Amino acid sequence: MPHVVVIGAGIVGTSLADELTARGVTDVTVLDRGPLFTTGGSTSHAPGLVFQTNPSKTMSAFASYTVQKFCTLEHPGGWAFNQVGGLEVATTPERWADLHRKVGWAAAWGIDARLLDPDECARLHPLIDPDRILGGFHTPTDGLAKAVRAAEAQANRAISRGATFVPNTEVIGIVDKAGRVTGVRTADGVMDADIVVCAAGFWGAQLATTVGLTVPLVPMAHQYARTGQIPALVGRNTEASEASYPILRHQDQDLYFREHVDRLGIGSYNHRPMPVDMSTLMADTAGEPMPSMLPFTEDDFAPAWSAASELIPALADSKVEEAFNGIFSFTPDGFSIMGEHRDLSGFWVAEAVWVTHSAGVAKATAEWIVDGAPSVDVHECDLYRFEDVARSPEFIMQTSSQAFVEVYDIIHPYQFRSALRGLRTSPFHERQKQLGAFFYEGAGWERPAWFEANAELAQRLRDGGLAFPERDGWSSRFWSPISIAEAHWTRERVAMYDMTPLTRYEVAGPDAASFLQKMTSNNVDKSVGSVTYTMLLDESGGIRSDITVARLADTRFQVAVNGPLDFDWFARHLVDGVTLRDITGGTCCVGVWGPLARDLVQPLCPDDLSHENFKYFRALQTYLGAIPVTMLRVSYVGELGWEIYASAEYGAALWDLLFDAGQRHEVIAAGRIAFNSLRIEKGYRLWGTDMTTEHQPKAAGVDFAVKMSKDDFIGKAALERVTAPAKLLRSIVFDDPSAVALGKEPVYVDGRCVGYVTSAGYSPTIGRTIAYAWLPASTRIGDTVTVDYRGTRSTATVHSEPVVDPEMARIKR
Ligand SMILES: Cc1cc2nc3c(=O)[nH]c(=O)nc-3n(C[C@H](O)[C@H](O)[C@H](O)COP(=O)(O)OP(=O)(O)OC[C@H]3O[C@@H](n4cnc5c(N)ncnc54)[C@H](O)[C@@H]3O)c2cc1C
Repeated sequence: MPHVVVIGAGIVGTSLADELTARGVTDVTVLDRGPLFTTGGSTSHAPGLVFQTNPSKTMSAFASYTVQKFCTLEHPGGWAFNQVGGLEVATTPERWADLHRKVGWAAAWGIDARLLDPDECARLHPLIDPDRILGGFHTPTDGLAKAVRAAEAQANRAISRGATFVPNTEVIGIVDKAGRVTGVRTADGVMDADIVVCAAGFWGAQLATTVGLTVPLVPMAHQYARTGQIPALVGRNTEASEASYPILRHQDQDLYFREHVDRLGIGSYNHRPMPVDMSTLMADTAGEPMPSMLPFTEDDFAPAWSAASELIPALADSKVEEAFNGIFSFTPDGFSIMGEHRDLSGFWVAEAVWVTHSAGVAKATAEWIVDGAPSVDVHECDLYRFEDVARSPEFIMQTSSQAFVEVYDIIHPYQFRSALRGLRTSPFHERQKQLGAFFYEGAGWERPAWFEANAELAQRLRDGGLAFPERDGWSSRFWSPISIAEAHWTRERVAMYDMTPLTRYEVAGPDAASFLQKMTSNNVDKSVGSVTYTMLLDESGGIRSDITVARLADTRFQVAVNGPLDFDWFARHLVDGVTLRDITGGTCCVGVWGPLARDLVQPLCPDDLSHENFKYFRALQTYLGAIPVTMLRVSYVGELGWEIYASAEYGAALWDLLFDAGQRHEVIAAGRIAFNSLRIEKGYRLWGTDMTTEHQPKAAGVDFAVKMSKDDFIGKAALERVTAPAKLLRSIVFDDPSAVALGKEPVYVDGRCVGYVTSAGYSPTIGRTIAYAWLPASTRIGDTVTVDYRGTRSTATVHSEPVVDPEMARIKR
């Protein structure tokens, strides 16, 4: 049995010890620099509000598991979880509308919740002034965690199974040999370990640097205050129960509240970001009982107090009595950070975890360590999800500060970060700006969403009778009707898409083919010039990614992937005789697609681009004008055409060459929104959104990319055991032409929530929005379902796939 050392006895470390020992890994030692179990970390003073509903299905699942588990914990001191319910109030129409979206997430993720009118809110929480609010979102199963008790109760369960907890023992170094962790160093010497998990809270980032690992988190101060006695609360709670009203959020003012017997606790994000310099912190607080608490900065709390008093008039009779600036971790994207160090096996991290998600993160980490993979999709939290740029101190600081500011904001799904824009631009960027591109951001890249230059075309098409359904204010944010024209024009004539940000690797070497055969589900060991769409599966047959493999030479492949997690997966499995190189930045790619694509490109090319000579899913290294290019005859938008790759220095010239040649065909530049709607029309999935490791290929409708007759590949054994899936990814088509969905909406049948939407786009080809939704396998083509979009219900029909061009006539011509 491996000996596991966990660094940190906060809520994460104790929960992890419990989860590991429950799985039979009982040789666990948990070390903490502080005393047990009020260690001085963030857990020691966390007020413990647990609101479960989150836009992320995974984070909601983590929170729900935490609630479920904490409800079962026993502690001699009293409750570990007080299920008082959660109430989030709206004081603005925008928030009220957004709570409708939130109740949809709750339904989609299986959390019981409903919307209440102001009087119902005030009945639940009589301290609220109902005249100040428009309504509230109530989740009866939310509640308060008594974080230190929950930590101790879990530790005691772990101890009863054999784990040891050691207080006052600081880990000062990690010991390793030949790429494996072998122990930790403390003032008492080296403690041997086969596995070390860093659950050291916001200290973890510093510890990780000692083993060459960047854990992108920033310790931030956040204000928490307790009032004096509130007359209206006197006699309501006992010292033992502490609270009986629901925990309360007033997100329009970045505030939350809980009772402390006859006082209120007020947490505020309504202040400037206050990142904490770890070096000063450690110097200043060495030996202090609570190194994660800083002195209260009263001025920062003034706006919070006045906003709190407006919602809760009873505060007028009270004042702040105790307060502090508490420290905990923020990350660039707001998600936790989990996983194993790639270059130091056996060294794991579980960092930037709220009490809310702690048991869920601990369970997933334990499964990962013991079983090889977590049972829920953790890609949003994976340590290796970050691009290189996202590991720079400047990026981490700026984006984490933005995450702090936005922690309670209403975030639109197409609202991209504003900090540090313009970091990665394709060689076509200047041309795109000239065409009036509106840019989205993805993985640091600037990606055109639509082009204002196509406004005239849109008007022309509108005048000609193309439908442009009106959209509501929310769905028309970060969106333009021009995108409908761009999608339509791609089907009618020809368009150019910037595919440069599509991450691509070169996999090369004498054993490249056998390596890729082992990694992928489809047969990629085909002739030079072949292009293959395939899955990367994990050992349990879950979809880790979908990729396209182009064989450019006997020993050289170009692999189009989804992002850094694919690099990590390949790198972890790399064998001698194979090299892996990210070539994204040094190359560029333009997709030329549409019925006139061949008419546009052929005159520029010395090779025969006819259908007979250059078949679908083939690659060709050739020239366009004087420019050396690699052309892949593939089309994520479902049209005739090619992805055309070139070395980046040719980019601007390539764009001009194609754009100029395209003028006689009325070529346009088209953006991401058009691209998205066309790929949904055509039945193509987006990994991470439509399918993840939680899904096997058959359920996701991509089993055509699995060759079970092939020799062994990762995930094959699991697929051999597969039974019929309970849920299937289905295309649904809205009945009302103006109905929209943006993703994550609940789907109902007979008034019961049976699934959720993953992604959606308006299809100009059929004049309706098409969406993907996970639905029960019993759902049949032609069935009617109902989708709840921010409180508006629309019917949709389950459609066969793909909705557009099932004969592939548009592509294969
Ligand atoms: C004011 C405030 C309010 C909050 N409110 C909420 C809330 O309402 N709901 C919620 O879900 N979350 C809340 N949080 C966040 C939450 O408290 C933290 O995210 C969570 O407690 C982190 O738990 P942890 O176990 O990762 O870290 P910690 O509790 O900080 O534990 C890390 C442990 O590692 C130990 N350690 C560090 N370095 C070493 C080393 N080198 N050797 C040995 N031991 C080491 C530390 O002593 C510490 O005990 C709040 C945080 C603050 C500050």
